[in-house]
Amino acid sequence: MKVGIAMMSHETNTFSPVITDLARFSGGRSEPLRGELAISTYTGTASCLGGFIKVATEQGVDIEHGIAAGAPPSGPVENETFEYMCDAIVSLAGRVDALLLDLHGAMATKSYQDGEGELLSRIRAARPDLPVCVSLDMHANVTEKMINNCSVLTGYHTYPHIDMDATAERGAKVFFDMLAGKCNPVMHWENAPMLPHVMRQGTDDFPNNALQQHAIALEQSDCLAVSLFTGFPHADIQDAGLSCVVITDGDAQAAAQHTGELLDFAWAERHKFVYQPEALPDSMARAQASTEAPGEGPVIILDHYDNTASGGTMDTTEVLAAVLDAGLDDVAVFGFFDPDVVEQMIATGVGNEVTVELGGKLPMPALAKQSKPLTLTGEVKLISNGKFKARVAMSRGLTINMGRAAVLSVGGVDIAVISRHIEPYDPECFRALGMEPTQRKFLMLKSRIHYRVGFMPIAKEIVECAGVGVCTSDYDQLTFEHVRRPIFPLDNPGSNAERVAYAAD
Ligand SMILES: [Zn+2]
Repeated sequence: MKVGIAMMSHETNTFSPVITDLARFSGGRSEPLRGELAISTYTGTASCLGGFIKVATEQGVDIEHGIAAGAPPSGPVENETFEYMCDAIVSLAGRVDALLLDLHGAMATKSYQDGEGELLSRIRAARPDLPVCVSLDMHANVTEKMINNCSVLTGYHTYPHIDMDATAERGAKVFFDMLAGKCNPVMHWENAPMLPHVMRQGTDDFPNNALQQHAIALEQSDCLAVSLFTGFPHADIQDAGLSCVVITDGDAQAAAQHTGELLDFAWAERHKFVYQPEALPDSMARAQASTEAPGEGPVIILDHYDNTASGGTMDTTEVLAAVLDAGLDDVAVFGFFDPDVVEQMIATGVGNEVTVELGGKLPMPALAKQSKPLTLTGEVKLISNGKFKARVAMSRGLTINMGRAAVLSVGGVDIAVISRHIEPYDPECFRALGMEPTQRKFLMLKSRIHYRVGFMPIAKEIVECAGVGVCTSDYDQLTFEHVRRPIFPLDNPGSNAERVAYAAD
């Protein structure tokens, strides 16, 4: 038996102005990885591809690795880029007996709201009987089109996502059992009319921790796989939001019943998925006061409206400006995406003084509130090729490429300036640039939840700061045009009975 493996992964923030072209899917190379190089790169890593490769290898099947295309979150995918990736995967589907796909589930393109559903339906049209197994991110906005065009589908149980490989393995084991005639997977999917705020989706927190534990308990009893997707609200598509997929062994009624149990629970706790931002001056006062609190380690200043891994431009300046205005000392900042400033600093040279116009470069047409460049004079402290080996879950085992990078030192504030978007969730991003994060009084991070993987264990205090950016947690700053209405909390559909009524519509 020959099994195809491929990845097409992108979380699309439809409010983001950041361009999503083939270069963004290519990891700094001329095109996405394929073939043996993809297998050797991902084997043994904590990624979904790592999980698929492991199970397929254990099964002793022949593996053909097609395209491995993953891009950091950003705006809608360019049409020609989507077609390139679809063609590669549909072509692979024509050469194999079964297919394992690492998809995200919240990809929107310039032409299709549901990128994954479109890909899967094209595969089904080309090879109607081909068994297809799909792994998705917990932020997937799952659609009926995805479910109707695959055999097995699983999603993460953790956010931060530390079970990517386990998610792929879980799905692949059910899939290979199905191929061997040992089980008959029946899938049920439903969504609830709710858009949980990303800042309230972490699995350290209630209610998502309880939802995921319930899903895992069902997997340990009578279900083959249970996936609760919190969804990605910044992909403004018809089916954005929370949904659930339950797979049982031939029992459609039980699958529907368990899906309903999970959605009922999520709906009953929907108010706990609402995030209340704090005014920036109040957050800065709290950050200053936190240094006096007992305990070791840095205070984290979280610039969560501009998280590149939710589609942020990674260049808004308002939180950094507040840090500088407050006169905070011993701060390490990660980071600012500003390739022009990096080149200017490289031209200036290490140890020399430079004046730059940092950040605020990319207009954000979806927002009324724009950022602006910050004029800063400081010393070029370090220049780097921007590559480091990830040591924490999610990317563990992979080399991260932040592009050419430099550190700008302005008084007691050291700012990482980079040329490729990466989210700071691994403390190695600082160490690669000569900064030891555990020794700082403050770390300013452009992240939302994923920083918790590497930084929560070393932090004394976390201060969430509302800056400016396209991953704002204040829904009032966004204009939703495509998501089904009514939906909570944009509207208040009311009782649980009404939730069920909406689902029936
Ligand atoms: Zn995610």
